[in-house]
Formats: sequence, structure tokens, C-alpha cells
Amino acid sequence: MDLSEPVSLLPGAGIFYQRKLKKLNILTLNDLLYHVPSRYIDYSINSKIGTLQMGETVTIKGEVASITNNYVKGKRLTIQKAVITDDTGSINITWFNQPYLVKILQGRTVNVAGKVSRFGRKFTMESPEYEIIKEAGSVHTGRLVPVYPETSGISSKWLRQKIVYLLLHLPFIKDPLPESILNKANLIGLNQAIRTLHQPQNQEQINLSRKRLAFDELFYLQLISLIRKRQWQKVKVGKKLEVIKFLPKIQQFVKNLPFELTMAQKRAAKEILTDLAKERPMNRLLQGDVGSGKTVVSAIAVFTAYLNGGKSLFMAPTEILALQHYQTLSRLLTPDEIKISLKTSSYKKGGQNYHLLIGTHALLHNKKPFEKVALVIIDEQHRFGVEQRARLRKQNLQPHLLTMTATPIPRTIALTLYGELDMSIIDQMPKGRKIVKTFVVPKEKYIAAYNWIEKKVVEGRQKGKIEQAYIICPLIEESEILTEVKAAKEEYERLRRDVFPNFRLGLLHGKMKGEEKSKVIDRFRKGDLDILIATSVVEVGMDIPNATIIAIEGADRFGLSQLHQLRGRVGRSDKGSYCLLFSQKETARLAAMEKYNLGIKLAEIDLKIRGAGEIYGTKQHGSLNLKIADFQDLILIEEARQAAEKLLENDPSLDNYPLLKGGIRPFLEKKVQPD
Ligand code: ADP
Ligand code: MG
Repeated sequence: MDLSEPVSLLPGAGIFYQRKLKKLNILTLNDLLYHVPSRYIDYSINSKIGTLQMGETVTIKGEVASITNNYVKGKRLTIQKAVITDDTGSINITWFNQPYLVKILQGRTVNVAGKVSRFGRKFTMESPEYEIIKEAGSVHTGRLVPVYPETSGISSKWLRQKIVYLLLHLPFIKDPLPESILNKANLIGLNQAIRTLHQPQNQEQINLSRKRLAFDELFYLQLISLIRKRQWQKVKVGKKLEVIKFLPKIQQFVKNLPFELTMAQKRAAKEILTDLAKERPMNRLLQGDVGSGKTVVSAIAVFTAYLNGGKSLFMAPTEILALQHYQTLSRLLTPDEIKISLKTSSYKKGGQNYHLLIGTHALLHNKKPFEKVALVIIDEQHRFGVEQRARLRKQNLQPHLLTMTATPIPRTIALTLYGELDMSIIDQMPKGRKIVKTFVVPKEKYIAAYNWIEKKVVEGRQKGKIEQAYIICPLIEESEILTEVKAAKEEYERLRRDVFPNFRLGLLHGKMKGEEKSKVIDRFRKGDLDILIATSVVEVGMDIPNATIIAIEGADRFGLSQLHQLRGRVGRSDKGSYCLLFSQKETARLAAMEKYNLGIKLAEIDLKIRGAGEIYGTKQHGSLNLKIADFQDLILIEEARQAAEKLLENDPSLDNYPLLKGGIRPFLEKKVQPD
């Protein structure tokens, strides 16, 4: 039996059901086998009618002595009343609106399972599960009964029947994993795991099944990323870089910076330089909270490439950020004669003859191939994945690759979803940074909060200092960017007219032209604006040290890491900074924001609240969607990791494990989408 065959092979799974099954993502027999019960009902206690106890959940076996269909006057309701007997007594059973039961159950030996209640002095059961006893044993009663994710038209009972039929006709399921792994991690065989998942005898068996299947999910994810890592490591960099030779110059460059690097920055820089000296391309993710100073670390790498006569590409998620990086990196790098160009759809600065080209991710879709590119840096894009790397390769580039993110990645996620990346972590802020004080502002305090902002800005002015504020407009669905822009404009007008008539306000949103944007940002940076009203375009990377207040309207609409990113726009100097979360609702996310300042802590909480699918787009991994495994289960994740590593060490081509190799092949052969 080929499990990749469609479910329609099963008797009674006609076109009607196929359509419904599709909603549950069940297309093949294999999908059905892996349809994981969400829970189990315990109908395993079999009881004689004579010994029933009030309130217990049991299965009773007996004869249907009588069953009748009764109409209720004036209502669209029928009641089926049955009497079931065994050798110890009888019990009254009722069902509702299932007149066909009369025909099916009359005179049969049945199991009924449910909760025992009482009517007068007699025990009854209301709407119990029923099952006509067959030789093969019971499926819906008399045991631990799986309850599946359902959809209208597809009940758990229906699924149970089909799955049991499939299991009955399914030969022994061969295990792709070798004994050695099973023994080491204390896992049961796949055949047993699948079977007891659907037909367990006790909770212990369920646990063992789930553990095995969870292990599989984690193991495959990691095996695939480790294989990808090996593939990536096999290629040679287009341009081998000298690091040792240039070390004195690099050290001088670091010395000339306007500040001393933190220990964490130094460590990250060292890890990167070590990679750059190698013949295989670097594939490193640099993580660090907003404001931890990732840009300067990347500048060291750019400088090293430059010393070697190699070019660098730097990609930012938005045009604003590309521009800002252009400005920052120009400050950090030009003293050393490095030619920097900026190229986005709105900005063109510098010529074709650059050492460093800055742009957005659209650079990847460049028609003209790049030459002599030794280093590619990608900012704020930890999802930068397999496909994009393949795109670089298509351009005939084998550069060193550095991705940077301010969204910290919990260790469990790093291992499973980003296993192919090496990680550097900046876990320390530059000296003198203060914690951003964060408050949730409920509706009745909006006015007071506006007054407080006004007071702060005025006080700043009186002291001859600049204090500026961001006000972030509520997030509207991404697809509705125009609505969002309209809302932002209206909010800007309202704030200017009614709330802050004495201040200089600016507006920044995603639909503005590049030039307009940079004008506004420049004015804000210079202190010519007091308050910048913005949509979440300022989310990542805007670096304006005098801005010390950020008020986020409709804060409950933002994700936790987004809020943390936004908050990172302030607290970028030694001044005290504040984050005000305007929200009509109290949410767990907002409470976490008040309580925690560390990105990694918030990322872990976000993982708990929203799950990995939402945050890290595990859906991209196709059928490797985790159904059973928990991204919080560090122990199992590490076990799976070790097993995958060891297996590849002993047999890199997996030739001794044809089942395993066949199973993961589709995931490794993902092709680059055409433009
Ligand atoms: P992010 O990690 O969020 O990208 P940036 O690289 O934009 O952070 O750095 C934030 C700010 O901190 C910048 O103004 C930068 O010049 C400054 N900075 C970076 N490293 C240090 C340091 N070691 N000491 C003081 N200021 C620093
Ligand atoms: Mg940054």
C-alpha cells in the first residue's frame, strides 16, 4: 500500500468527503495517518448496569430491548428513547433528532458510552456514544477514544472509522530511523507509534507515541538544515579574504570609532572575522537587541572586504532604513576612502564604482549580475532563507553572508528552524543606556498622557535640550496600506489641530516618496520637529537619539516583538526614555512589555502566546509543520539535534538510510521561484 495515494482509495471517502478532508489538510493516506488526535475520551471503564455509579463515565454492553421515536408537539425535535438491558438490570437511554437509530439499533447488542445521570430513581444516559459490537472489537467505546480536529461533515467518529480501517489493512510500517537512534533517545518504533496514537490502551502508550512522533518532527527539521549547512559549506567563496594580514588596519579602524566597542560587539566581530578568513562562505546570523550596535559590527566586516579589494552589498528591509544605513555607514567608513553607493527605487547616490552598495532586498532581483562581491549583509531579516541564498548563487555569487536581526530567537527555535546558521549574539547594550520605562495607558488616561508628553517636550526645550516623541498610529492589516495611510493622515491632522497645536508635527508613512520621507526624517533628526506621527514604518532601525518618548496607539494590535522593536526607537542615548502603550484592552502582551525589557525574554513569551507558526512562519516549511512537537521542549530538541548530527557524521550521503533519504528529498530540492 502506497501511503502517498489519495484518501479516496478508502471505502466511503467519496468526493463529498474529499473536499471536506482537504480543509483538514488531509489529501493522502499518509496525511490521514498523521492526523493527530487533539485529545482522548476515556470510555475504558466497562460497567454492568447493576453496578453503575451516578456521574461516572463508562461503557455499558447490553441488548437494545426497545427503542422508539417520539415527536415533541410544536417543536422541531424528536426524541429517541431506548431501554438497554444486561444480566444485571436495565437503563433508559435518550438521543435527540436521530430517528434512524431506531432502525439501526433495534434488537442489537450494543455498547453505549457516556456519563451516567439519574432520572427519578433510575439511571439514564443522555446522547451517549453508541456502537454495534463487531468481531474486530470496539472503536468508539470501551476504550480510550481519540478525538480529532474536525470540520463540518467530518466527525471524529467518521475519522476513527477510516483510520481504523486503514490501520487494519496497512502492513508493518518500516522505520526510517535506525535502532541506534531509537535506543539512545528511548523511542518506540514508528509502526507502534502510529498505531497506538490512534488506538492506545493507556495514557502511557499515548505519551510514548507522541514522544516518538514529536522527535521525528524535530529530527527531520534539523537533519534538513544540517544537510543544507553541509551543502553550503562545500562551496568555495568567490573571493578568499585575508584577515590576519590586515589585522593591524582593522584594529586601527576599530580604535578610530567614536566609541569603544562593548565586549559583546568585540566577540561578535571576532567570530565574523574568523569566518571571513575561511574558504567556505560565512552564513552567520547576528542577533542583538535594538540599539545593541549591530551596524558597526557589520561595518568592520565591510572594511575587511574592502581591504581585500572585495565589494559588499548591504540590504535593508525598507528604503528609509537603506538611506539611514547609507548615512551611518558613510560616517563610519568614508574616512578610509571607501566608496559607498545607495540604490533603491527612490534614491540613487554614488556611482557604479562602489566598494559598498546599499539598497533594499530588491537588490537580489537585480538583472545585471554583481561582480567581485565578497560580502552580503542583510539587515533585519532573519527569515532570509534558502531561496534567497539560491538566488545569490544564481547570480554566480558565493559571498560571505551576514544576516542581522533585532528579533532575538529563542534557542529552541534557533536549533530547529535556523539550524543551518551560525549565530553571534550581542547580549549587552552600549554603556550608559537606560531602561525604557513602559506604561500601558488605558482609554480614560489618553488625555493625561498627551498632556504629559507636552510637558516633557516643553521641559526639554526649557533646559536647552531637545526631547522628541514618536506617536505610532494603529496597525491596520498589511494588505490595507492605503487605509492605514489615510488613518495616519487623519490622526496627524487631529493631533496637530486638537492636541498639540503649539508643536511642530511631522508625518511619516509607507506611501510617501523617498525624498519626502528623508526630508521629514532629517527635520526630525535636526530637532526641527517635536513630534513625528508615523505608521509602523519606523519599526526597525530608525536611530534618532534625541527621541525619548514613543507613544503607540492601538498597541494591542501589534505583536510583541514588533512592540519591542518600536520601543527600541527610544532609549538610544543616556537620557531617560519612555514608552506609552495606548490600548483599550489589557493584554498579556502589553503586560509583558511593562515588565520586561530584554528582547529574548519577550521573544520567549511571544512564542508561548502565539506559537512558532505565527512568528517564525513555520508554515513555510510545508508539511514539516509541527503538529506534535513543542518548540519549548529544549531537551527533545537537543536530543534530535545530536542524533541528526551523529547520523550525518557517520553517513553524510545517507546512503545507508534510503527511507530517510527519500523522505527528506522533496525538502532539499526546493527550487528558486522565477522572478
Ligand atoms: P542596532 O543593533 O539596533 O542596529 P545600531 O547599530 O543602530 O543598533 O546602533 C545604535 C546606536 O548605538 C547607534 O547610534 C550607534 O552609533 C551606537 N553605538 C553602537 N555601538 C556603540 C558602543 N559600543 N558604544 C556607544 N554607542 C554605540
Ligand atoms: Mg539596525
